[in-house]
Amino acid sequence: MISKEEKDYINKIITKLFRPEASKIVLALLDKGEATEEWIAKETGMKLSLIRKLLYELYEKGYVTFKRERDEKTGWYIYYAKFNIDKFNELLLERIKIIYDKKLKIRLNYEKNNIFFICPRHKRRYRIEEALANNYLCPEEGCGQLLIHFDNSAYIKKLTEKIQLIENILKKIEKI
Ligand SMILES: [Zn+2]
Repeated sequence: MISKEEKDYINKIITKLFRPEASKIVLALLDKGEATEEWIAKETGMKLSLIRKLLYELYEKGYVTFKRERDEKTGWYIYYAKFNIDKFNELLLERIKIIYDKKLKIRLNYEKNNIFFICPRHKRRYRIEEALANNYLCPEEGCGQLLIHFDNSAYIKKLTEKIQLIENILKKIEKI
């Protein structure tokens, strides 16, 4: 069963990747499980031609799969569309990877590649370039305290550990 939060998230992402109408289809499919184009048309009030077009776009990217069944009365094939939640989770994982991995790595590089000074009164950090430009005096208005070197090795250690932790989690998820 998919929670409301998950639905909201799927709605947001599908709207962003495709358009709001595609998300309407996906939400209808999530409620029903699998459905024909005709059912979706009735449910959403959208035109069949638009539904067909959007279903095809979703199918092309792997977010929708189709199941074929023969109608015993008419002998015609009926196609049932289904939202591919696995594909969506894959995408989600990629996004998490990019957000956490990149953000933390950028932060880590920033810490590694800079020398910092700190104002003992404000506890505000300055990069050495800023400190130098202010003659190692705190530029904060009315302060002027002598800046002291800030050892960021504890920060670097923490960030490295966080990155390691996330990498391990991602490795585990990918194995499932
Ligand atoms: Zn200061």
